[in-house]
Amino acid sequence: MNLADKHVVISGGGSGVGAEMAVQFAQAGAKVTILGRRAEALDEVAQNCDALPVTCDVTNRDGLSAGLFVASDLNGPVDIAIANAGAAPSLPFEKMSVMDFEDSLAVNLTGVFNLWQVCLPGMKAQGWGRLIAVSSTAGLKGYPYVSGYCAAKHGVIGLTRALAVELARSGVTVNAICPGFIETPMLQRSIDTIVSKTGMRPEQAAKSLRSGNPQGRFIQPDEVAKAALWLASEGAASVNGTALPISGGEI
Ligand code: NAP
Repeated sequence: MNLADKHVVISGGGSGVGAEMAVQFAQAGAKVTILGRRAEALDEVAQNCDALPVTCDVTNRDGLSAGLFVASDLNGPVDIAIANAGAAPSLPFEKMSVMDFEDSLAVNLTGVFNLWQVCLPGMKAQGWGRLIAVSSTAGLKGYPYVSGYCAAKHGVIGLTRALAVELARSGVTVNAICPGFIETPMLQRSIDTIVSKTGMRPEQAAKSLRSGNPQGRFIQPDEVAKAALWLASEGAASVNGTALPISGGEI
């Protein structure tokens, strides 16, 4: 894979899947910008792979635009925008406040909209671009206690499909990746929540989550990063509007 001279922006690049993507895109020769709210987490990843860390919140449109303005000044127009930032707090539907629900939509859905919309004009101007979202199997099926997250991730797939058709003749493709449970800090937080709510042992909780994957294992961040690399490649130019499950056959 050779992405020399491409500028990739990865939201949520300070941990988990986004951090692995930063390393893999840098290895493929891309200029990498990583976004997130925690400067220290971004700096650590940036040091490993010579990425540009930009502290911003994807739900804050003005802050995101300002951050991307600086990144484009240093690395050129964005060629590949990966909307990977997300959060999956769990709550029973009846205990979820309107604010909880809106917070979930803000980071998991509006955050994708914001990143893509800010990056798109430059892609259209050059007649080439890749808009990629990390959705989830929760964008394709329901899970209990994460209805806000599921609603947002389903929304990401609707956004992807509509925009893919709208941009089909522009040279910009739009795709979503839909992983099952991935071994990252987010998964660890889900396990901790199950342990605290049910009294299960951590290994029992992990086993119950693993068992949803027919292959009986967690997805690795490396597998999600490789899918993004492929979607960014010339070979995937005709792949548009897809919701690509990476789930061992769960869906
Ligand atoms: P993670 O390690 O918790 O990463 C999430 C990243 O998003 C963090 O780096 C976080 O950084 C960033 N983030 C959260 N809110 C943000 C905001 N408002 N603005 C900017 N950045 C924000 O978890 P992960 O598993 O790698 O998650 C990556 C993506 O995969 C997410 O979209 C998640 O929904 C999806 N996914 C995860 C799983 C799983 O089992 N882990 C399964 C399917 C899909 P800061 O806190 O520094 O902002």
